[in-house]
Amino acid sequence: MPWFGSGGRGRILSVTEKLAKMYSLFEARYGDLKWWPARTDFEVMVGAILTQNTAWRNVEKAISFLRTHRLLSVTEMHSATKAKISSLIKPSGYFRIKAERLKELTRYIIGKSGGDIRKMKKMDPGRLRAELLLVKGVGNETADAILLYALSMPFFVVDAYTKRIFFRHGLIPHDAAYESVQSLVHSNFPKDVRKYNQFHAMIVETAKRYCKKSVALCDECPLGKLYRGDDLTRR
Ligand code: SF4
Repeated sequence: MPWFGSGGRGRILSVTEKLAKMYSLFEARYGDLKWWPARTDFEVMVGAILTQNTAWRNVEKAISFLRTHRLLSVTEMHSATKAKISSLIKPSGYFRIKAERLKELTRYIIGKSGGDIRKMKKMDPGRLRAELLLVKGVGNETADAILLYALSMPFFVVDAYTKRIFFRHGLIPHDAAYESVQSLVHSNFPKDVRKYNQFHAMIVETAKRYCKKSVALCDECPLGKLYRGDDLTRR
């Protein structure tokens, strides 16, 4: 299993140094990935629900149908019927469940801010997270995607790709819980919205292109240098 940080000829890197090195190697390769791909904060939230258990290309189709039918606003979606939302988001799969979740989310946003997402950005992040987790169908990953990408709050988003890459690089055990992976980053990496945004986006990009489930294409990957155990302390 790949392990980086022993440094080959160098010293063992701390977790803080490993994360910083990963980030800088990613950034050198990808630059700004301009996440989250959405036109509005509410569209980010909709995407965070629709992307559950499906590929992003399916989400894009569903979002384009919602846009065509002018449902990409909190109030419009809140007043639309579940049947109508379901019919438009069919490409994203689990459409009845997801329609219910979108309705629940809009109900929460309206109750919290009257539908004004800008107001939510000024609210207490920890409290919002706790409340979002009480919305039906919103788990850790969805809540953090909403907090980070829609509300610009510093919560690192953990997904299966993050766990795969961190595990392959010896940062976490294979069965690490969501909270422990997030806490590893929160405690060892700058708590910065832009960096959390980019870090997650670059992890997703890397897992899709190189660090696949069944094969790791380390020679082509931006983290390949780490995998080979080069002397990272001199780079
Ligand atoms: S593919 Fe990249 S991220 Fe995955 S183990 Fe190899 S070097 Fe690491």
